[in-house]
Amino acid sequence: MRSLVLFRNDLRVADNPALTTAAARGEVLPVFVYEPEAYGAAAKWWLHHSLTALAQDLGGLLVRQGEPLEVIEGLVADYGVDAVFWNRRYEPAGIAKDTEMKAALGAAGVVVESFPGNLLFEPWQIKTGSGGQFKVFSPFWRACLKAGAPAAPLERTSLAVFGATAEIDALDLLPTKPDWATGFGPVWTPGEKGAWARLEHFLSDDIKGYKTGRDRPDQTHVSRLSPHLHFGEISPRQIWREVQRQCAMYPSKQGDADKFLAEIGWREFSHQLLFHTPDLPEQNLNRAFDAYPWADNPGHLTAWQKGKTGYPLVDAGMRELWHTGYMHNRVRMVVASFLIKHLRIHWKHGMNWFWDTLLDADLANNTASWQWVAGSGADAAPYFRIFNPTTQAQKFDPNGDYIRKWCPELAALPTKVLHAPWEAPALVLLEAGVTLGATYPHPIVDHKEARAAALAGYDTVKSAQA
Ligand SMILES: Cc1cc2nc3c(=O)[nH]c(=O)nc-3n(C[C@H](O)[C@H](O)[C@H](O)COP(=O)(O)OP(=O)(O)OC[C@H]3O[C@@H](n4cnc5c(N)ncnc54)[C@H](O)[C@@H]3O)c2cc1C
Repeated sequence: MRSLVLFRNDLRVADNPALTTAAARGEVLPVFVYEPEAYGAAAKWWLHHSLTALAQDLGGLLVRQGEPLEVIEGLVADYGVDAVFWNRRYEPAGIAKDTEMKAALGAAGVVVESFPGNLLFEPWQIKTGSGGQFKVFSPFWRACLKAGAPAAPLERTSLAVFGATAEIDALDLLPTKPDWATGFGPVWTPGEKGAWARLEHFLSDDIKGYKTGRDRPDQTHVSRLSPHLHFGEISPRQIWREVQRQCAMYPSKQGDADKFLAEIGWREFSHQLLFHTPDLPEQNLNRAFDAYPWADNPGHLTAWQKGKTGYPLVDAGMRELWHTGYMHNRVRMVVASFLIKHLRIHWKHGMNWFWDTLLDADLANNTASWQWVAGSGADAAPYFRIFNPTTQAQKFDPNGDYIRKWCPELAALPTKVLHAPWEAPALVLLEAGVTLGATYPHPIVDHKEARAAALAGYDTVKSAQA
């Protein structure tokens, strides 16, 4: 029997329930239907390379662009397949398309089945005692842990692939003029093998000290698995199992491993949040925030996007993002807080910029995180807690290694003044070759004034809430 497997954010061969089911029936037609609106600009670079890796691994991949239902109906007829399988996706637009596709193909007599493969637990599986949705992370994660170990991942199966060529270039996913992605290649290896190499390196080495080291952008304690996870080159169930294996061999890793799995838990939390509140990318979860008096300042937004705010940690983060398609989590929190609170620019502008520049751009994680920082989201950081970008830099990049890497024009400054160059004596700036306003910007806002303005704006939210 011939089955079609529709790949989306599950670009892997192992632990792929749809693929395993199809392989057990007979010949497999692997298909990827490109839906441009599902990807930001940087993510398209990743997609190109990830599809290339998958096609090599499978021995071919039929690639098309268009509306999945139309494309799949055509392929079912052209290739004589009698079954279509896929692993579920959980974004509102994807759910709507898949629901329609399931009904239409089923009505046409095609066997259709979807599978869980991209989360530890289905978004409707973990419920509060009264059967509702969790809005606070800690009890959610406790409930996940109580639910028992997630299903064991599936091993790779042998495949009989037919009909598949890999015309990935035709999708035109790579930037050319200019090629702004030159910094990505040296840092990342998209694809299933790259994902496993990253996990193995992390578990054998970088995980030691993750609990506290994960806050240090100048260190290498985080896994950098996020784009691999977003594209499904590795599944959270596989990660879960590998973590358990490591801890069984090296019990001293348990504390760091628990913290790491809790971060995977945040991914679960964000996905169930988007599933239950599909307008999360458009609406404040806490509608009192609709009253916030946002500023309209395109100059400030551009300075933030380009890493020219005059606050070194913020600028370092925004430049890391532009050059590598990634930003460390601690710095994501600082730059997001700066945009929302110091510049009072709506979180949607930040979310959109991240969407286009992050390789791991993920509707659930990105939206939930931006609302978390804004204070309008679930289990959110309180609005009145405003990160001071200078003290954050002193605390989490104490020697200035991260700032020096991404803001090389400040590299010669002594560490004492590196985090706040505007406080440096004129002679020190001169000796380091720094001219504020010329080689590096003056701060675009004063921290104390910006903080006061942000808090005054928050009063409108409090009134709306009252
Ligand atoms: C404003 C803002 C926007 C963000 N946008 C995204 C996004 O578009 N895509 C994305 O994957 N993550 C996003 N995050 C969450 C987090 O910053 C990244 O997942 C993390 O930095 C990825 O690096 P890592 O893989 O080394 O993380 P690790 O610390 O090694 O964590 C392991 C995995 O856990 C998950 N994870 C970790 N932290 C979070 C979190 N706070 N929320 C949800 N999942 C998490 C990720 O899948 C990550 O790969 C955002 C955070 C902020 C503050």
